[in-house]
Amino acid sequence: MPELPEVEVTRRRIESLLIGRKIASLRTTRDSYFFVTPTARLRAGLRGRTFSTLERRGKYLIAHLDDGARLVIHLGMTGQLFSSAAVGPRLLSATARASLTPAEQRRGFRPDEHTHLRFAFADAGPEVYMRDVRKFGKVLLLPPGQSHPRLDLLGEDALGVSEELLFSATRKKKAAIKAVLLDQSVIAGCGNIYADESLFIAGVRPGRAAGRVRRAECGRIAEALRGVLERSIETGGSTISDYVAPDGVEGAYQDERRVYARDGEPCRECGTEIRKKVVAQRGTHYCPTCQR
Ligand SMILES: [Zn+2]
Repeated sequence: MPELPEVEVTRRRIESLLIGRKIASLRTTRDSYFFVTPTARLRAGLRGRTFSTLERRGKYLIAHLDDGARLVIHLGMTGQLFSSAAVGPRLLSATARASLTPAEQRRGFRPDEHTHLRFAFADAGPEVYMRDVRKFGKVLLLPPGQSHPRLDLLGEDALGVSEELLFSATRKKKAAIKAVLLDQSVIAGCGNIYADESLFIAGVRPGRAAGRVRRAECGRIAEALRGVLERSIETGGSTISDYVAPDGVEGAYQDERRVYARDGEPCRECGTEIRKKVVAQRGTHYCPTCQR
């Protein structure tokens, strides 16, 4: 599943293909749960509009249009946004690759039944596609001035998390510190992998009551979280799932994991066996020696 770094990598790579371009037409697949906004309204609302900016909040991509409307996209499990001009077999997820014959893989990608959005532009340049094989993604068009509860409830983006924010969000909380990190209304976009990795770097046990995490430790967790996310963005996102970044370059983060999915292996710092247990309903990895 794409995590914040992959969504940010997608944003950076797709931005120049959208910004300043006027939409000539949009083709969609049939109405389904994928389209929070019915396809007829989506097509009518976007035709003739120009993309002005592309931002990310947590794992949501928000494309702003010249009339003040916002196109909100969530990539779900297998959603990918890419250019019709820059396609190749490695662009596609392992699942998608398996569904193409070798000949189809060589000639590149052609829109298929999983290609739910196809933007054509007035400049007749490359089209932009959104493909989603498992279809857990979501697309929503917010008319000018309209807000959305799910977006409004999102906390600070994980790349901007600070000691102060974490300290005030954790006071008097009995829930595990990891549960607070995963709470999207506190920090938007901190996934399971990044919670485990940053708690290890900060030396804090995932199951410790949030209210008992000291200010300096909140500072270390915030710094570690920003650090692992930035490092993952730099390396093109994660390859922990079968998700592949839009230009097909596979991420290198996997090799740098300190605890995530390393249960039973020795800690890289102290040699103690990394443990796994359930914290905040999620499989959680930690070193019983390095983390207190
Ligand atoms: Zn250790």
